[in-house]
Amino acid sequence: MKIVIIGNGVAGITCALAARQRDAGASITVVSGETDYFFSRTALMYAYMNTLQRRDLEPLERGVYAKQRIERVRDWVVDMHHSQRTLTLGSGQKLTYDKLVFAVGAVANMFPWAGAAEVKDGLVHFVSMQDLDTCERLTPSTREAVVVGGGLIGIELVECLLYHRKKVTFLVREPWYWPVALGQEESEMVGAHMRAHGVELALNEELSRIDVDPQGRVKSVHTSAGRDLPCQLLGVCAGVHPAVERLKKFTEGPRLGRGIVVDPTLQTDLDGVYACGDCAEIHTPGQERPLTELIWYSAKRQGALVARNLFGDEVTYQPPIFFNSSKFFEIEYTTVGQVMELPEGTPTIYRRLPGKNVSQRIVHDGTRVLGFNMLGSRWNHEVLERWVQERRSPDFCLKHLPEAQYDVEFGRAALSAMREETLPLHKETRR
Ligand SMILES: Cc1cc2nc3c(=O)[nH]c(=O)nc-3n(C[C@H](O)[C@H](O)[C@H](O)COP(=O)(O)OP(=O)(O)OC[C@H]3O[C@@H](n4cnc5c(N)ncnc54)[C@H](O)[C@@H]3O)c2cc1C
Repeated sequence: MKIVIIGNGVAGITCALAARQRDAGASITVVSGETDYFFSRTALMYAYMNTLQRRDLEPLERGVYAKQRIERVRDWVVDMHHSQRTLTLGSGQKLTYDKLVFAVGAVANMFPWAGAAEVKDGLVHFVSMQDLDTCERLTPSTREAVVVGGGLIGIELVECLLYHRKKVTFLVREPWYWPVALGQEESEMVGAHMRAHGVELALNEELSRIDVDPQGRVKSVHTSAGRDLPCQLLGVCAGVHPAVERLKKFTEGPRLGRGIVVDPTLQTDLDGVYACGDCAEIHTPGQERPLTELIWYSAKRQGALVARNLFGDEVTYQPPIFFNSSKFFEIEYTTVGQVMELPEGTPTIYRRLPGKNVSQRIVHDGTRVLGFNMLGSRWNHEVLERWVQERRSPDFCLKHLPEAQYDVEFGRAALSAMREETLPLHKETRR
């Protein structure tokens, strides 16, 4: 069998390795336009901050590809004729397949701001290896930077720019940082932490115009508060969306929605063609809204599932209990279960360690726990997931919390000293 996988991110490579385990004889080719080797996108910031070399971003030894007989092709797929099972690459080369997997990921959102069409340089996103190249090229000639978009990628770029000693303004159009994921209390803690690091965090303020110098390099932005902020680097980090732009031009491509439309087995409307990871839009009969999960662990799971279905297993995708972890500068962040998209006023237990950037929020429906938002210490997400699955009571979770807390190098956060409040969850949902 001849399998072609488009995209060498975590979804594509997981699929390739799992397919090889399944069939020693299959021909497996992975095509990617971005890089020669799979790298950890979540660790991009550590390369920008010189903590890691680019090579260190690669989770696999380079020899693995040859050992597993996974052929790598560095190019963009620009067209597809499914009736002939053929792909066309940017170079003009053709590739044929029996089974095809789209694992093309996501790209940054961009908006039609006034002045955006005049920009030739100075505007960056922070998603791809090429974005990292651009950021690094612009860094020496940047004194002031503005970052737009109050989510995880935005704060990572802010941290990188601070590392390079730039004056950074972080424009967040909502009333608090990252309202789709954080309660107001956590967000205020993170906001105060950013300000303590020297970031100008501007809430309720958005970009309205970009101004450029005679060479077309960004020189300032105008904001909804009427301010002109000088900047030589403008980071646009206001979300990502499935990378389907190229696919729209394919002669005989799969059905597209916001992403690549797939059924619960992750198969597209084309026979033998699948999609997984950030690019997949999963339609499940009976469910009103399709599912698009733009996170690492889901991409990995979906890649592994597609590998099984390539060989006829017909496994359906069950979204796991949501889990994500990251850092807001030094503040650890673990989220499990449902803490977003809940009705206004959903009850929560919120606890904060006085004087420290440590907080815990247990979201519940009055009798059973729905999710956790934990900041400032490290948590074993598997234990928290189990409690959500077992529909444990909020009291049970509170009592047993120490069992879910990881030992950390400098000791555990002192849970007994937490100040506890019962708070309704106020959601700011404007996007
Ligand atoms: C800065 C940053 C931080 C993040 N932090 C977290 C985090 O803390 N936790 C978390 O869960 N997730 C995080 N994410 C998201 C996570 O990285 C993604 O969900 C995950 O990498 C998606 O993997 P994927 O394999 O679906 O796609 P990708 O990793 O995007 O790989 C897709 C590949 O396909 C290539 N491609 C696309 N179209 C074509 C084509 N036509 N021809 C050839 N190649 C093509 C792309 O260039 C890309 O190389 C972060 C993302 C970023 C950018």
